[in-house]
Amino acid sequence: MEKIIIPEQMLPSDGRFGSGPSKIRSKQIDVLCAAGRSLMGTSHRQQPVKNLVASIKSGLSQLFELPEGYEIALGNGGATAFWDIACACLINRKAAFGVYGSFSKKFASSAQSAPFLDEPAIYSVEPGSYCLPEPTEEADAYCWAHNETSTGVMTPVKRIEGVDEDALMLIDATSAAGAAEVDIDQTDAYYFSPQKAFGSDGGLWIAVLSPRAIARAKAIESTADLPGARRWVPPFLSLTAAVENSRKNQTLNTPAIATLILMDEQIKQLNANGGLKASAARCAQSAQTVYDWAENCSYAQPFVQDKAARSTVVVTVDIDDSISANAILSVLRDNGIVDISGYRKLGRNQLRVGVFPSVEPDDVKALTNCIDYAVEKIKAAN
Ligand SMILES: *Cc1c(COP(=O)(O)O)cnc(C)c1O
Repeated sequence: MEKIIIPEQMLPSDGRFGSGPSKIRSKQIDVLCAAGRSLMGTSHRQQPVKNLVASIKSGLSQLFELPEGYEIALGNGGATAFWDIACACLINRKAAFGVYGSFSKKFASSAQSAPFLDEPAIYSVEPGSYCLPEPTEEADAYCWAHNETSTGVMTPVKRIEGVDEDALMLIDATSAAGAAEVDIDQTDAYYFSPQKAFGSDGGLWIAVLSPRAIARAKAIESTADLPGARRWVPPFLSLTAAVENSRKNQTLNTPAIATLILMDEQIKQLNANGGLKASAARCAQSAQTVYDWAENCSYAQPFVQDKAARSTVVVTVDIDDSISANAILSVLRDNGIVDISGYRKLGRNQLRVGVFPSVEPDDVKALTNCIDYAVEKIKAAN
C-alpha cells in the first residue's frame, strides 16, 4: 500500500499521545537544558540537588493540598518498585485487592508471591469496569488503582467502609496523579511514577504517605530482623529509609537528576495554572472530545460502557473488526502521531489515547480528525 499522507493543516501540533511515557513539553526540555548545565553531573548529596528535591516536595504538597502530618517520599524504581516496598513494609499480614486490569493485577501478584504474607483477598472483574476491594476479615491493607491504565477505567478513591480501624488504603495513582482530583485524606499511600501526568522520565516512585503508613512501616521494619521474624526487608525496599532520606531532601541511592528537573518544572506549571482542579478539568475536556467522537463514529465506540467509570486521562476506543487498529496506527505513525495502541495484553482491536495535562485539547480534536482521515483512506485502498 502506498503511504497515506495526512494533510499538514490537519495534524496536531504535537503527535505524542502515549499513556506513559507521555508527552514532555518543550518548556520542560528548555529548563532541562538550562538547569542541566549546573545541576546534572553534580552530587545529589549537595545543596543544589537537595533544593530541587525540596522544590518537588513543596510543589506536590501544594498540588495535593497535603493534610496535616502527611509526607512526600521518593525513591528509585518507579511504581513497580513501590508494589514490592508495600509488600515488604506496609502490609502487615493480609491485603485485599481490587483487580480489573494489568496494573491492578501486578501488585496483587506481588503480594501473592510474598512468602511472609497471608494469601491476599482478590476481588476482580473483567477489564472494562472495576471493583473495589471489599471489607475482608483480617485484612490490614486495601489496594486498588485510581486509574487502570491498561483499560482506561477510573475508580473512586475513598476509604473502604466497615474495615478494621487501622487498615491502610494503598492507591496506585501512577497515571492519575496530577491529572485527576483526589482527597488525599482518603488514602494512606497515594503513589505514582513521573512519566505520566508529570511529563517526566521514568525511574522514580513518589508516594504521598499518611502518618499511619509511616508508622506502620516503622513498626514492621523494626521487627523484621528479630530472630524468628517471618520476613526480610531488603534495604533497597525499606520505606523507612526512603522516608528518612526524603526528609533530608535526598534519596537512598543516586536518582536521575534529569527526571527530577523535568518533574519539578511540570509541578510548577500545574500549580501556576490553577492546580489539580484545573488540570483535572483540562484532561476531562480532552477525554470528552475523544468519547464524543467515538460515540458518533460509525466504526468506533468507547470501550468502557459505564460512563462514570470512563477514565478522564486514558481513553480507550474499540474499533470495528472491519478495520484493523494496527493499520490506523501505522498510518498515524507515518505522519508523526505515536503511541496510541491499545494495551498489548488486553488483545483488543483498540486505540488508547493519553490525554494528560501536557497534551493540548486542540491537538486531541485534531487527532480524532486524523484518525477519520486515515480510516477513509484505508477503506478506499482496500
Ligand atoms: C505505568 C503504570 C505503572 C508502572 O509504572 P513504572 O514506572 O513503569 O513502574 C503502574 N501502575 C499504573 C497504574 C501505571 O499506569
